[in-house]
Amino acid sequence: MKYFSTRGLDERISAAQAIIRGLAPDGGLYVPESFPQISAQEIEDLCAMNYRARAARIMAPFLDDFTSEEIGELCRQAYGENFDTAEIAPVRFIDETTGYLELWHGPTSAFKDMALQMLPRLLTASLRKQGVELGVCILVATSGDTGKAALEGFADVPGTKIMVFYPRDGVSDVQRLQMVTQEGQNVMVCAVEGNFDDAQAGVKRIFSDKPFADELREKGWFLSSANSINWGRLLPQIAYYFSCYCDFVNAGLIAPGESMDFCVPTGNFGNILAGWIAKQMGLPVERFICASNENNVLTDFITTGVYDKRRDFHLTNSPSMDILVSSNLERLLYFVTGDTERVAQWMNELSTEGHYDVGEEVLGAITKDFSAGFCTGDGASAEIARVWAEHGYLIDTHTAVASAVLSAYRCGTGDETPTAVVSTASPYKFCPSVLSALGMSTDEPGHELIGKLERATGTKAPEPLAHLGEKTERFSECTDPQNMRGVVAAFLD
Ligand SMILES: *Cc1c(COP(=O)(O)O)cnc(C)c1O
Repeated sequence: MKYFSTRGLDERISAAQAIIRGLAPDGGLYVPESFPQISAQEIEDLCAMNYRARAARIMAPFLDDFTSEEIGELCRQAYGENFDTAEIAPVRFIDETTGYLELWHGPTSAFKDMALQMLPRLLTASLRKQGVELGVCILVATSGDTGKAALEGFADVPGTKIMVFYPRDGVSDVQRLQMVTQEGQNVMVCAVEGNFDDAQAGVKRIFSDKPFADELREKGWFLSSANSINWGRLLPQIAYYFSCYCDFVNAGLIAPGESMDFCVPTGNFGNILAGWIAKQMGLPVERFICASNENNVLTDFITTGVYDKRRDFHLTNSPSMDILVSSNLERLLYFVTGDTERVAQWMNELSTEGHYDVGEEVLGAITKDFSAGFCTGDGASAEIARVWAEHGYLIDTHTAVASAVLSAYRCGTGDETPTAVVSTASPYKFCPSVLSALGMSTDEPGHELIGKLERATGTKAPEPLAHLGEKTERFSECTDPQNMRGVVAAFLD
């Protein structure tokens, strides 16, 4: 399987090379040249397998420069004791048509672990395969969960360093604590003045800075990305869509071969795009419902075909979705048009003018598979309360956005297709919002609220979150977005 850039650079590279590079030299994202097909019979076979085996089967055809032993070993390491359930990505069913796909049983209690427990292993294996002797420094801009999940994945991995930038005012108390208490000799965490898009733009600037790359190379380092623009991030996510489908079959909500829907709380468009790729590989999915918070640029795009980031940026109670530039949409635009020139032009318009319009035909191709909706912070809180009251099931604010959007979608369309709500974080990661949604006060410091939520609901916090308050804060630096390069240079000196 070869990979090439969405922006037309005339070069075909292997999976290992695409994973090492992250972003393509022309600023595009790497895409596979085809979608491997998984037959209906093979999907039925997957139903009898555990998560690791399902993941290995789905990932293998995309990684044909790796042996099946190597891929099996990667899956064993990535999806093992580091998760708090042997099911890895269990589905909790609340009625005959609805299940919540819980993707937060990994070490940082959010869905980013599904990819970031795999990526460091995939990346170091890729480096060995390519005979690269340089050390790799992972550079991450995070709206919260990616940072911690990447730190946890890369901490003390030989031959790597990891540098995480987060927006000073855009992450929760617990998210910040999780990051600044990270252990490991090869890690660095730094706040950035501004919002997530400022941090992400800063990281993109550094990646496209050729002289800086040369300077680092002389010191023995090269930069790579753990953001969801890296193919190695997207790939592991395809697997859980197949796994969830199998669990719906096994639970009897659908017959083998029958279609289901997914409703996905969306920010950078990585998670939902992985699902759409699963559909292209043969997974029977009717629709993907793209759920946004008040930063509803994707709702508007999927409704009108106009992507317009010139709007107010909202800090919401689902901070990991506070994003105005959804990078992975670029891959979808390439897949539906097959036209790198137009994609490059739209992305250029987005960065120079702040908007682009894909026109009716492309929009039609997108709305064939996608619906979209958004939900306010208050709506998400009400949904947390409703699901808890009606089903005794506790969800976080991001999952609540999707859950509320699904309810509205079903009301509006009468569509009763069995649907998985993709659950992206443990409710314990967003205690203040979840507690206030349940009508409780939240005056205590972040980590004390964890015990309070446990007592109020009789549920149990994930182990690492429960002990957060006992850890030492190691990183307090804050930088102007213009000086992020300087921070990286100092870290690698
Ligand atoms: C990252 C994240 C999202 C958004 O996922 P994308 O792949 O960026 O669309 C949603 N919820 C949580 C909890 C996240 O951490």
